[in-house]
Amino acid sequence: MQCIYDVTTEELVAWLEARGQPAYRAKQILEGVYRHRVASFASLSALPRWLRQELAAEFEVGGLPVVRRWDGEDSLKLLVALGDGEMVECVGMRTRWGETACVSCQVGCAMGCAFCASALGGYRRNLTASEIVRQVISLEAAGARISNIVFMGMGEPLLNYDQVLSAIHTFVAPDRMAISPRHITVGTCGIVPAIRRLARDAPRRVELAVSLNAPTDDLRRKLMPGAAKWRLAELLEACDFWTEARGGQPVTYAYVLLRGVNDAPSHADELAKLLAGRRHLVNLIRMNPVEGCQLTASSKARALAFARRLQDQGISVTLRRSRGRDVRAACGQLRRHDDQARASCQGKLYPVGRRAKKQQ
Ligand code: SF4
Repeated sequence: MQCIYDVTTEELVAWLEARGQPAYRAKQILEGVYRHRVASFASLSALPRWLRQELAAEFEVGGLPVVRRWDGEDSLKLLVALGDGEMVECVGMRTRWGETACVSCQVGCAMGCAFCASALGGYRRNLTASEIVRQVISLEAAGARISNIVFMGMGEPLLNYDQVLSAIHTFVAPDRMAISPRHITVGTCGIVPAIRRLARDAPRRVELAVSLNAPTDDLRRKLMPGAAKWRLAELLEACDFWTEARGGQPVTYAYVLLRGVNDAPSHADELAKLLAGRRHLVNLIRMNPVEGCQLTASSKARALAFARRLQDQGISVTLRRSRGRDVRAACGQLRRHDDQARASCQGKLYPVGRRAKKQQ
């Protein structure tokens, strides 16, 4: 069955015309689907009953079915089911600026970053635009009030370029979800040709965050084997292109601090040298624990010293507090659920809604 979030306005108008309905019905439907986030066409009371029934017979609407939910201190993690039985995780994080949805764009990930749970178990498939959009709707239906979206869940967004871009357009379009582009961030491990493409294609003010994690090609190759296909010099050139093509918009560089691996003073010096003269913001984050991974987080003291050393060299840096660790929803902790988990979840889909059964 087609999903209503994949249908363009023109397609919807044509569908209505074929049923002898005026074009203004499309506006009524879109308003119900996007502004009021209806979970069923039956709620569109302005439409004749037969039309609601036809819509329901033809299109899916509402969030993805929630297989499991975890309520953390400052986060909500959902495991949601896709139509073919695959599952992905998405997270709502409460911050002082509002609530942020961290969405997945692939089932698993092929990039193999050494510190990331999404890399374990490999890649299965890309998500469609509507599967991305519906993660946000599931989070909202579960009680989150989403005002920001980050493409930093499972998978590499720029390897699912068309669907991610289409989801971004749905998020920002005034007659769809109407989220400010400034509140949308695409995180990437650094797919160079796609960064250049996105610089031209993404709506103005959508943000870019590049996962850097190493100041030299050798170290980056060890930590991020998939991304290291492009040398750091090429990656930074693409980031400069982003800034230039988008009227001076800076790039955020994420740097996961790994104990004894990339957190030495010399690494900070090399990083400062790389970013000098570039419009940037560096987000440092201490690695979150990943089961089955040998790497561990730098100590707090080491992270603070690293941040100070960057600052002293003119780098804009923030040391981010990790959110969602208590429910394994933090950066780098989302993972693919295997066949065993799928089998044990079968037939146990929890209803979407504020009173949905909670699991710890
Ligand atoms: S950090 Fe991103 S690109 Fe790397 S393995 Fe994890 S999800 Fe994939």
